[in-house]
Amino acid sequence: MDVRRWIATRRDGGKQAASDFKELAEGAATGTIPDYQLSAWLMAAYLNPLSLDETAWLTEAMAASGSRIDRTGLPKPWVDKHSTGGVGDKTSLVLLPMLAACGITTVKMSGPGLGITGGTVDKLSAIPGFRTSLTANEMRQQAEELGIAWSGQTPDLAPADKALYALRDATATVESIPLIASSILCKKIASGAEVVVMDVKCGAGAFMKDLARARALAQALEDVGSRCGLAVRAVVTDMDQPLGRTAGNALEVEEAFEVLGGSRGSVRDICVHLCALTLVAAQDVDWAAAIERGRQALDTGEAASCARKWIEAQGGDLSGLPRAAIVRQVVAETNGWVARVDAQMVGSTVVELGGGRRKKGDEIDVTVGVETLKRIGDRVGSGEALFRVHAATQESALAAIESLSSAVSISESQVSGRPLIL
Ligand code: URA
Repeated sequence: MDVRRWIATRRDGGKQAASDFKELAEGAATGTIPDYQLSAWLMAAYLNPLSLDETAWLTEAMAASGSRIDRTGLPKPWVDKHSTGGVGDKTSLVLLPMLAACGITTVKMSGPGLGITGGTVDKLSAIPGFRTSLTANEMRQQAEELGIAWSGQTPDLAPADKALYALRDATATVESIPLIASSILCKKIASGAEVVVMDVKCGAGAFMKDLARARALAQALEDVGSRCGLAVRAVVTDMDQPLGRTAGNALEVEEAFEVLGGSRGSVRDICVHLCALTLVAAQDVDWAAAIERGRQALDTGEAASCARKWIEAQGGDLSGLPRAAIVRQVVAETNGWVARVDAQMVGSTVVELGGGRRKKGDEIDVTVGVETLKRIGDRVGSGEALFRVHAATQESALAAIESLSSAVSISESQVSGRPLIL
Protein backbone atom coordinates (compact mmCIF):
# COMPACT_ATOMS: atom_id res chain seq x y z
CA MET A 1 0.00 0.00 0.00
CA ASP A 2 1.49 3.32 -1.11
CA VAL A 3 -0.32 5.87 1.03
CA ARG A 4 2.09 8.68 0.14
CA ARG A 5 1.31 8.22 -3.53
CA TRP A 6 -2.42 8.73 -3.17
CA ILE A 7 -1.96 11.61 -0.69
CA ALA A 8 0.21 13.28 -3.35
CA THR A 9 -2.36 12.56 -6.10
CA ARG A 10 -5.07 14.20 -4.01
CA ARG A 11 -2.81 17.13 -3.07
CA ASP A 12 -2.04 17.79 -6.75
CA GLY A 13 -5.69 17.63 -7.82
CA GLY A 14 -5.27 14.32 -9.67
CA LYS A 15 -7.80 11.50 -10.00
CA GLN A 16 -7.63 8.62 -7.54
CA ALA A 17 -8.48 5.00 -8.35
CA ALA A 18 -11.26 2.95 -6.74
CA SER A 19 -8.55 0.75 -5.16
CA ASP A 20 -7.10 3.78 -3.32
CA PHE A 21 -10.42 4.24 -1.52
CA LYS A 22 -10.54 0.55 -0.54
CA GLU A 23 -7.06 0.88 0.97
CA LEU A 24 -8.00 4.11 2.69
CA ALA A 25 -11.18 2.69 4.26
CA GLU A 26 -9.52 -0.56 5.36
CA GLY A 27 -6.54 1.33 6.77
CA ALA A 28 -8.79 3.76 8.65
CA ALA A 29 -11.00 0.96 10.04
CA THR A 30 -8.15 -1.27 11.17
CA GLY A 31 -5.82 1.52 12.32
CA THR A 32 -3.05 0.40 9.95
CA ILE A 33 -2.80 3.86 8.34
CA PRO A 34 -1.59 6.35 10.93
CA ASP A 35 -3.75 9.34 11.82
CA TYR A 36 -1.18 11.80 10.43
CA GLN A 37 -1.44 10.29 6.95
CA LEU A 38 -5.24 10.08 7.08
CA SER A 39 -5.35 13.71 8.27
CA ALA A 40 -3.07 14.85 5.44
CA TRP A 41 -5.31 13.08 2.91
CA LEU A 42 -8.44 14.63 4.48
CA MET A 43 -7.03 18.14 4.16
CA ALA A 44 -6.04 17.43 0.55
CA ALA A 45 -9.59 16.10 -0.07
CA TYR A 46 -11.04 19.21 1.53
CA LEU A 47 -8.97 21.48 -0.75
CA ASN A 48 -9.36 19.33 -3.89
CA PRO A 49 -12.88 17.90 -3.55
CA LEU A 50 -13.64 14.34 -4.62
CA SER A 51 -15.46 13.87 -7.95
CA LEU A 52 -18.80 12.07 -8.04
CA ASP A 53 -17.11 8.75 -8.95
CA GLU A 54 -14.52 9.15 -6.21
CA THR A 55 -17.20 10.02 -3.63
CA ALA A 56 -19.16 6.90 -4.59
CA TRP A 57 -16.00 4.74 -4.30
CA LEU A 58 -15.23 6.18 -0.87
CA THR A 59 -18.85 5.63 0.22
CA GLU A 60 -18.87 1.99 -0.89
CA ALA A 61 -15.47 1.30 0.64
CA MET A 62 -16.50 2.78 4.01
CA ALA A 63 -19.80 0.84 3.92
CA ALA A 64 -17.80 -2.37 3.40
CA SER A 65 -15.40 -1.64 6.27
CA GLY A 66 -17.59 -3.22 8.97
CA SER A 67 -20.68 -5.37 9.44
CA ARG A 68 -23.89 -4.94 7.46
CA ILE A 69 -27.51 -5.38 8.44
CA ASP A 70 -29.12 -8.15 6.41
CA ARG A 71 -32.72 -7.25 5.59
CA THR A 72 -33.36 -10.34 3.44
CA GLY A 73 -36.95 -11.46 3.91
CA LEU A 74 -38.23 -8.14 5.24
CA PRO A 75 -40.90 -6.40 3.14
CA LYS A 76 -39.50 -4.28 0.33
CA PRO A 77 -38.51 -1.56 -0.31
CA TRP A 78 -35.98 -1.29 2.51
CA VAL A 79 -36.49 2.22 3.75
CA ASP A 80 -34.43 4.47 6.02
CA LYS A 81 -34.73 8.11 6.99
CA HIS A 82 -32.00 10.59 7.83
CA SER A 83 -31.87 14.15 9.06
CA THR A 84 -28.69 16.20 8.97
CA GLY A 85 -29.70 17.40 12.43
CA GLY A 86 -31.33 20.43 13.92
CA VAL A 87 -32.78 21.96 17.07
CA GLY A 88 -36.04 20.34 18.18
CA ASP A 89 -35.92 17.78 15.39
CA LYS A 90 -38.10 14.95 16.66
CA THR A 91 -39.41 13.92 13.23
CA SER A 92 -38.17 10.30 13.38
CA LEU A 93 -40.33 9.66 16.46
CA VAL A 94 -43.41 10.63 14.46
CA LEU A 95 -42.43 9.55 10.95
CA LEU A 96 -41.43 5.94 11.64
CA PRO A 97 -44.85 5.12 13.18
CA MET A 98 -46.61 7.02 10.34
CA LEU A 99 -44.75 4.90 7.80
CA ALA A 100 -45.54 1.71 9.71
CA ALA A 101 -49.22 2.72 9.65
CA CYS A 102 -48.89 3.16 5.85
CA GLY A 103 -47.42 -0.35 5.45
CA ILE A 104 -43.75 0.66 5.16
CA THR A 105 -41.17 -1.13 7.29
CA THR A 106 -38.27 0.99 8.49
CA VAL A 107 -35.02 -0.23 9.98
CA LYS A 108 -33.03 2.64 11.42
CA MET A 109 -29.89 3.15 13.41
CA SER A 110 -29.04 6.54 14.92
CA GLY A 111 -25.95 7.99 16.51
CA PRO A 112 -25.98 10.08 19.72
CA GLY A 113 -26.36 13.86 19.45
CA LEU A 114 -23.38 16.16 19.57
CA GLY A 115 -23.53 19.94 20.16
CA ILE A 116 -26.81 21.73 19.50
CA THR A 117 -28.36 19.02 17.33
CA GLY A 118 -29.90 16.41 19.60
CA GLY A 119 -29.81 12.74 18.64
CA THR A 120 -32.77 10.35 18.49
CA VAL A 121 -30.95 7.97 20.87
CA ASP A 122 -30.97 10.65 23.55
CA LYS A 123 -34.62 11.51 23.02
CA LEU A 124 -35.67 7.86 23.26
CA SER A 125 -33.46 7.29 26.31
CA ALA A 126 -35.70 9.82 28.12
CA ILE A 127 -38.47 7.18 28.15
CA PRO A 128 -38.12 5.11 31.34
CA GLY A 129 -37.10 1.53 30.54
CA PHE A 130 -36.60 2.08 26.79
CA ARG A 131 -33.78 -0.10 25.43
CA THR A 132 -31.72 1.92 22.93
CA SER A 133 -29.66 -1.02 21.83
CA LEU A 134 -31.08 -4.03 19.99
CA THR A 135 -29.26 -7.06 18.62
CA ALA A 136 -29.48 -7.76 14.88
CA ASN A 137 -31.97 -10.57 15.63
CA GLU A 138 -34.15 -8.37 17.79
CA MET A 139 -34.17 -5.71 15.06
CA ARG A 140 -35.30 -8.25 12.48
CA GLN A 141 -38.02 -9.60 14.70
CA GLN A 142 -39.34 -6.17 15.56
CA ALA A 143 -39.27 -5.07 11.92
CA GLU A 144 -41.28 -8.16 10.98
CA GLU A 145 -43.81 -7.77 13.77
CA LEU A 146 -44.27 -4.00 14.00
CA GLY A 147 -42.74 -2.47 10.87
CA ILE A 148 -40.32 -0.41 13.00
CA ALA A 149 -36.88 -1.49 14.11
CA TRP A 150 -34.75 1.18 15.66
CA SER A 151 -31.48 0.95 17.55
CA GLY A 152 -28.51 3.05 18.55
CA GLN A 153 -25.58 2.64 16.16
CA THR A 154 -23.37 -0.40 16.69
CA PRO A 155 -19.60 0.24 16.79
CA ASP A 156 -18.98 -2.09 13.87
CA LEU A 157 -21.21 -0.18 11.40
CA ALA A 158 -18.88 1.58 8.93
CA PRO A 159 -15.88 1.81 11.32
CA ALA A 160 -13.83 3.59 8.62
CA ASP A 161 -16.28 6.48 8.77
CA LYS A 162 -16.05 6.56 12.55
CA ALA A 163 -12.25 6.93 12.36
CA LEU A 164 -12.31 9.48 9.54
CA TYR A 165 -15.13 11.50 11.11
CA ALA A 166 -13.19 11.87 14.38
CA LEU A 167 -10.17 13.09 12.39
CA ARG A 168 -12.31 15.48 10.30
CA ASP A 169 -13.65 16.95 13.52
CA ALA A 170 -10.10 17.48 14.81
CA THR A 171 -8.65 18.83 11.53
CA ALA A 172 -11.37 21.30 10.44
CA THR A 173 -12.27 19.19 7.41
CA VAL A 174 -15.88 18.32 8.27
CA GLU A 175 -17.44 20.88 5.91
CA SER A 176 -16.61 19.21 2.61
CA ILE A 177 -19.77 18.21 0.72
CA PRO A 178 -18.33 14.99 -0.82
CA LEU A 179 -16.95 13.93 2.59
CA ILE A 180 -20.29 14.66 4.30
CA ALA A 181 -22.28 12.83 1.62
CA SER A 182 -20.07 9.74 1.77
CA SER A 183 -20.10 9.73 5.58
CA ILE A 184 -23.90 9.84 5.73
CA LEU A 185 -24.52 7.38 2.90
CA CYS A 186 -22.00 4.70 3.88
CA LYS A 187 -23.95 4.10 7.11
CA LYS A 188 -27.22 3.86 5.19
CA ILE A 189 -25.73 1.29 2.80
CA ALA A 190 -24.24 -0.69 5.69
CA SER A 191 -27.62 -0.74 7.39
CA GLY A 192 -29.14 -2.34 4.30
CA ALA A 193 -31.30 0.53 2.97
CA GLU A 194 -32.52 0.82 -0.63
CA VAL A 195 -34.63 3.98 -0.30
CA VAL A 196 -33.49 6.83 1.92
CA VAL A 197 -35.49 9.95 2.69
CA MET A 198 -33.12 12.76 3.61
CA ASP A 199 -34.09 15.87 5.52
CA VAL A 200 -31.30 18.39 4.87
CA LYS A 201 -31.67 21.14 7.45
CA CYS A 202 -30.66 24.68 6.57
CA GLY A 203 -30.27 27.77 8.73
CA ALA A 204 -28.88 29.12 12.00
CA GLY A 205 -29.54 25.91 13.95
CA ALA A 206 -28.16 23.54 11.28
CA PHE A 207 -24.89 22.32 10.05
CA MET A 208 -25.62 23.94 6.62
CA LYS A 209 -26.18 27.65 7.22
CA ASP A 210 -26.98 28.79 3.69
CA LEU A 211 -29.46 27.56 1.13
CA ALA A 212 -27.00 27.17 -1.76
CA ARG A 213 -24.81 24.77 0.27
CA ALA A 214 -27.81 22.89 1.67
CA ARG A 215 -29.11 22.39 -1.89
CA ALA A 216 -25.66 21.29 -3.05
CA LEU A 217 -25.56 18.70 -0.24
CA ALA A 218 -29.08 17.47 -1.09
CA GLN A 219 -28.05 17.10 -4.74
CA ALA A 220 -24.80 15.32 -3.79
CA LEU A 221 -26.71 12.89 -1.57
CA GLU A 222 -29.10 12.05 -4.43
CA ASP A 223 -26.31 11.73 -7.02
CA VAL A 224 -23.88 9.71 -4.90
CA GLY A 225 -26.77 7.58 -3.64
CA SER A 226 -27.77 6.81 -7.20
CA ARG A 227 -24.19 5.75 -8.11
CA CYS A 228 -24.24 3.41 -5.09
CA GLY A 229 -27.64 1.87 -5.97
CA LEU A 230 -29.51 3.81 -3.32
CA ALA A 231 -32.67 5.80 -4.16
CA VAL A 232 -32.20 8.99 -2.16
CA ARG A 233 -35.01 11.57 -1.96
CA ALA A 234 -33.70 14.72 -0.33
CA VAL A 235 -35.61 17.78 0.85
CA VAL A 236 -34.14 20.99 2.27
CA THR A 237 -36.06 22.30 5.29
CA ASP A 238 -35.82 25.40 7.45
CA MET A 239 -33.76 25.35 10.63
CA ASP A 240 -33.44 29.09 11.25
CA GLN A 241 -35.97 28.67 14.04
CA PRO A 242 -36.39 25.50 16.13
CA LEU A 243 -38.67 22.79 14.75
CA GLY A 244 -41.90 22.63 16.73
CA ARG A 245 -42.28 23.84 20.30
CA THR A 246 -39.77 21.82 22.28
CA ALA A 247 -36.00 21.29 22.33
CA GLY A 248 -34.74 18.89 25.01
CA ASN A 249 -35.08 15.14 25.17
CA ALA A 250 -38.10 14.25 27.36
CA LEU A 251 -39.93 17.38 26.19
CA GLU A 252 -39.47 16.34 22.56
CA VAL A 253 -40.86 12.86 23.20
CA GLU A 254 -43.90 14.48 24.77
CA GLU A 255 -44.37 16.77 21.76
CA ALA A 256 -43.90 13.88 19.32
CA PHE A 257 -46.82 12.09 21.01
CA GLU A 258 -48.93 15.26 20.81
CA VAL A 259 -48.31 15.30 17.05
CA LEU A 260 -49.10 11.59 16.83
CA GLY A 261 -52.30 12.47 18.69
CA GLY A 262 -53.29 14.93 15.94
CA SER A 263 -51.85 18.27 17.09
CA ARG A 264 -51.07 20.77 14.29
CA GLY A 265 -47.89 22.72 13.55
CA SER A 266 -44.47 22.54 11.93
CA VAL A 267 -43.61 19.03 13.17
CA ARG A 268 -46.79 17.61 11.68
CA ASP A 269 -46.27 19.52 8.42
CA ILE A 270 -42.73 18.25 7.94
CA CYS A 271 -43.63 14.68 8.88
CA VAL A 272 -46.54 14.63 6.41
CA HIS A 273 -44.15 15.91 3.70
CA LEU A 274 -41.44 13.32 4.52
CA CYS A 275 -44.04 10.55 4.72
CA ALA A 276 -45.40 11.53 1.29
CA LEU A 277 -41.90 11.60 -0.23
CA THR A 278 -41.35 8.07 1.06
CA LEU A 279 -44.71 6.77 -0.13
CA VAL A 280 -44.18 8.21 -3.62
CA ALA A 281 -40.71 6.61 -3.79
CA ALA A 282 -41.84 3.29 -2.36
CA GLN A 283 -45.46 2.63 -3.29
CA ASP A 284 -46.20 4.08 -6.72
CA VAL A 285 -48.80 6.59 -5.46
CA ASP A 286 -49.19 10.20 -6.58
CA TRP A 287 -48.23 13.17 -4.40
CA ALA A 288 -51.80 14.23 -3.43
CA ALA A 289 -52.76 10.68 -2.41
CA ALA A 290 -49.52 10.29 -0.47
CA ILE A 291 -50.09 13.54 1.46
CA GLU A 292 -53.64 12.45 2.27
CA ARG A 293 -52.48 9.01 3.46
CA GLY A 294 -49.91 10.61 5.81
CA ARG A 295 -52.49 12.94 7.32
CA GLN A 296 -54.89 10.04 7.74
CA ALA A 297 -52.27 7.99 9.60
CA LEU A 298 -52.09 10.78 12.17
CA ASP A 299 -55.77 11.71 12.30
CA THR A 300 -57.12 8.18 12.68
CA GLY A 301 -54.72 7.35 15.54
CA GLU A 302 -53.11 4.51 13.49
CA ALA A 303 -49.64 6.09 13.74
CA ALA A 304 -50.04 6.72 17.48
CA SER A 305 -50.97 3.09 17.99
CA CYS A 306 -47.89 1.93 16.01
CA ALA A 307 -45.73 4.28 18.12
CA ARG A 308 -47.04 2.91 21.41
CA LYS A 309 -46.45 -0.69 20.27
CA TRP A 310 -42.90 0.20 19.20
CA ILE A 311 -42.02 1.93 22.48
CA GLU A 312 -43.53 -0.93 24.52
CA ALA A 313 -41.69 -3.55 22.44
CA GLN A 314 -38.41 -1.88 23.43
CA GLY A 315 -39.39 -1.83 27.13
CA GLY A 316 -40.39 1.85 27.30
CA ASP A 317 -43.02 3.12 29.74
CA LEU A 318 -44.78 6.24 28.49
CA SER A 319 -46.92 6.70 31.59
CA GLY A 320 -44.53 9.10 33.27
CA LEU A 321 -41.83 10.95 31.37
CA PRO A 322 -39.28 12.51 33.72
CA ARG A 323 -39.62 16.26 34.31
CA ALA A 324 -37.23 19.00 35.33
CA ALA A 325 -37.58 20.47 38.82
CA ILE A 326 -37.76 24.11 37.76
CA VAL A 327 -39.90 25.74 35.08
CA ARG A 328 -39.52 29.49 34.33
CA GLN A 329 -40.74 31.78 31.55
CA VAL A 330 -39.11 34.39 29.35
CA VAL A 331 -41.58 37.15 28.48
CA ALA A 332 -41.71 39.78 25.71
CA GLU A 333 -40.83 43.33 26.69
CA THR A 334 -42.63 45.01 23.78
CA ASN A 335 -45.61 44.50 21.49
CA GLY A 336 -45.04 43.50 17.89
CA TRP A 337 -44.34 40.60 15.58
CA VAL A 338 -41.68 37.93 16.09
CA ALA A 339 -39.01 38.56 13.44
CA ARG A 340 -36.31 36.08 14.59
CA VAL A 341 -36.10 33.04 16.86
CA ASP A 342 -32.49 31.93 16.69
CA ALA A 343 -32.39 28.13 16.60
CA GLN A 344 -28.65 28.11 17.24
CA MET A 345 -29.11 30.08 20.47
CA VAL A 346 -32.03 27.93 21.60
CA GLY A 347 -29.93 24.81 20.91
CA SER A 348 -26.92 26.09 22.82
CA THR A 349 -29.17 27.06 25.74
CA VAL A 350 -30.37 23.44 25.88
CA VAL A 351 -26.72 22.30 25.91
CA GLU A 352 -25.92 24.80 28.72
CA LEU A 353 -28.89 23.49 30.71
CA GLY A 354 -27.28 20.02 30.49
CA GLY A 355 -29.58 18.60 27.79
CA GLY A 356 -26.87 18.18 25.11
CA ARG A 357 -23.20 17.27 24.85
CA ARG A 358 -20.30 19.69 24.53
CA LYS A 359 -18.03 16.76 23.74
CA LYS A 360 -18.39 13.08 22.95
CA GLY A 361 -19.20 10.95 26.01
CA ASP A 362 -20.66 13.79 28.16
CA GLU A 363 -23.59 12.76 30.38
CA ILE A 364 -26.87 14.51 29.59
CA ASP A 365 -29.93 15.44 31.65
CA VAL A 366 -32.95 14.28 29.65
CA THR A 367 -35.44 16.37 31.65
CA VAL A 368 -34.15 19.85 30.79
CA GLY A 369 -34.95 21.95 27.74
CA VAL A 370 -36.67 24.93 26.21
CA GLU A 371 -40.18 25.41 24.88
CA THR A 372 -40.37 28.06 22.14
CA LEU A 373 -43.87 29.44 22.42
CA LYS A 374 -43.83 31.84 19.45
CA ARG A 375 -42.74 31.38 15.84
CA ILE A 376 -41.52 33.90 13.29
CA GLY A 377 -44.50 35.95 12.08
CA ASP A 378 -46.54 35.47 15.29
CA ARG A 379 -48.08 38.53 16.98
CA VAL A 380 -46.86 39.04 20.54
CA GLY A 381 -47.94 41.37 23.35
CA SER A 382 -45.72 42.89 26.04
CA GLY A 383 -45.58 40.49 29.04
CA GLU A 384 -46.58 37.47 26.95
CA ALA A 385 -44.44 34.33 27.29
CA LEU A 386 -41.89 33.70 24.51
CA PHE A 387 -40.07 30.71 26.03
CA ARG A 388 -40.52 28.25 28.88
CA VAL A 389 -37.26 27.01 30.42
CA HIS A 390 -37.07 23.57 32.09
CA ALA A 391 -33.99 23.48 34.33
CA ALA A 392 -32.41 21.40 37.07
CA THR A 393 -31.28 24.38 39.20
CA GLN A 394 -32.27 28.02 39.77
CA GLU A 395 -28.82 29.16 38.55
CA SER A 396 -29.04 27.29 35.26
CA ALA A 397 -32.61 28.57 34.76
CA LEU A 398 -31.46 32.18 35.25
CA ALA A 399 -28.54 31.74 32.83
CA ALA A 400 -30.92 30.22 30.25
CA ILE A 401 -33.39 33.11 30.65
CA GLU A 402 -30.57 35.56 29.98
CA SER A 403 -29.36 33.74 26.85
CA LEU A 404 -32.88 33.31 25.47
CA SER A 405 -33.65 37.02 25.88
CA SER A 406 -31.25 37.71 23.03
CA ALA A 407 -32.41 34.74 20.93
CA VAL A 408 -35.54 36.55 19.77
CA SER A 409 -36.21 39.85 17.93
CA ILE A 410 -39.56 41.63 17.91
CA SER A 411 -40.45 44.00 15.09
CA GLU A 412 -42.91 46.89 15.26
CA SER A 413 -44.06 46.15 11.72
CA GLN A 414 -45.78 43.01 10.56
CA VAL A 415 -43.51 40.06 9.68
CA SER A 416 -44.62 37.04 7.64
CA GLY A 417 -43.98 33.44 8.64
CA ARG A 418 -41.06 31.48 7.16
CA PRO A 419 -41.64 28.59 4.78
CA LEU A 420 -40.75 25.21 6.23
CA ILE A 421 -39.87 23.38 3.02
CA LEU A 422 -37.17 25.30 1.19
N1 URA B 1 -23.39 13.39 9.63
C1 URA B 1 -22.57 12.36 9.33
O1 URA B 1 -22.88 11.21 9.59
N2 URA B 1 -21.40 12.65 8.73
C2 URA B 1 -21.01 13.90 8.41
O2 URA B 1 -19.96 14.09 7.86
C3 URA B 1 -21.87 14.96 8.75
C4 URA B 1 -23.06 14.68 9.35
